[in-house]
Amino acid sequence: MNFASDNAGPVHPKVMEALVAANTDYAMAYGNDDLTAQVVDKIRDLFEAPEAAVFLVATGTAANSLALASLCPPWSTVFCSHVAHIEEDECNAPEFYSGGAKLTLVDGKADAPDQMTPDALHSAIAAAGGSVHNAQRGAVSLTQVGEKGNTYTLDEIRALCDVAKGFDVPVFMDGARFSNAIAKLACTPAEMTWKAGVDAVAFGGTKNGLMAVEAVVFFNPKHAQEFEFRRKRAAQLFSKHRFLAAQLDAYLTDGLWLDMAHAANARCHQLLEGLQRLGVPVQTQTPANLIFFTLPRRAHRALTDAGAVYYSAAAQDGALDDMLTGRLVCDWSLSEEAVTRFLDLVAKAI
Ligand SMILES: *Cc1c(COP(=O)(O)O)cnc(C)c1O
Repeated sequence: MNFASDNAGPVHPKVMEALVAANTDYAMAYGNDDLTAQVVDKIRDLFEAPEAAVFLVATGTAANSLALASLCPPWSTVFCSHVAHIEEDECNAPEFYSGGAKLTLVDGKADAPDQMTPDALHSAIAAAGGSVHNAQRGAVSLTQVGEKGNTYTLDEIRALCDVAKGFDVPVFMDGARFSNAIAKLACTPAEMTWKAGVDAVAFGGTKNGLMAVEAVVFFNPKHAQEFEFRRKRAAQLFSKHRFLAAQLDAYLTDGLWLDMAHAANARCHQLLEGLQRLGVPVQTQTPANLIFFTLPRRAHRALTDAGAVYYSAAAQDGALDDMLTGRLVCDWSLSEEAVTRFLDLVAKAI
């Protein structure tokens, strides 16, 4: 019953097999190997983008920070939601790697703070720029699936991109949970990115069954020129690059990436239905594989004592009937039985 995060789960066995299979003979270093070339082609095919520039890095923070640094000059600002991973969870890495670009926080929907509204984005971009004294307009960064578990529709992505394009501002998508969003929306990667106006995306792997790799994809190679230098300078150019490529090669074989995302989303759907049946309030409006829910501290503690693992503030001191939010994240490996067991415990705890 581990719902802590989708990076707490195991690596898919097919990915481990691919790592072992890649561990033979010699291969040129720094991405000059055949497997990397093959993976770059597979990613271009997946995104229907033959001209795309593709780079592999080992963490999502590196993917976000280096992509944004390539899109934004140091004197600019990145428009993102108040709860964006780049704002809350990256220790100022985007600001550091961009050499000083700042973040401008944009209001989200009242019931989905991870989803910026086009009006709020428009106001924020309009207010930036101007004279030499002001932060200039850098890029828009949107997260799909969002940090509060919400998934933008294609129309919503298009509307945000249209606002950005109106100011000639590029759009970046933090896709740490990209595959879960595709599984949810039943659309193509092209539809969710460049066809909607997205200029670059971090195509996540680690949270969906890989060991440590994310692909940064620039649909307009113009934006990509710097990435190569920035990746090396950030110490993210892996010399034994074939082992990053091997993970993605397995991921992109026979639709493993999408199968794993569907499995994770199905467990989340099971959780959602179960909690709703029990009358437990759920805050996430359009979930893919993570949800936020509310229970009294006493119930959270009973669940934790019974072995469920997830984030909440239940361990902190406070009244037992205080209502507290918890976060449940499902990964590809979670069993139906574990979710059923958890829901039985919730029923008892309430
Ligand atoms: C997990 C996550 C990342 C990447 O985090 P790393 O720990 O650096 O791999 C980026 N964005 C979002 C929305 C995430 O949830």
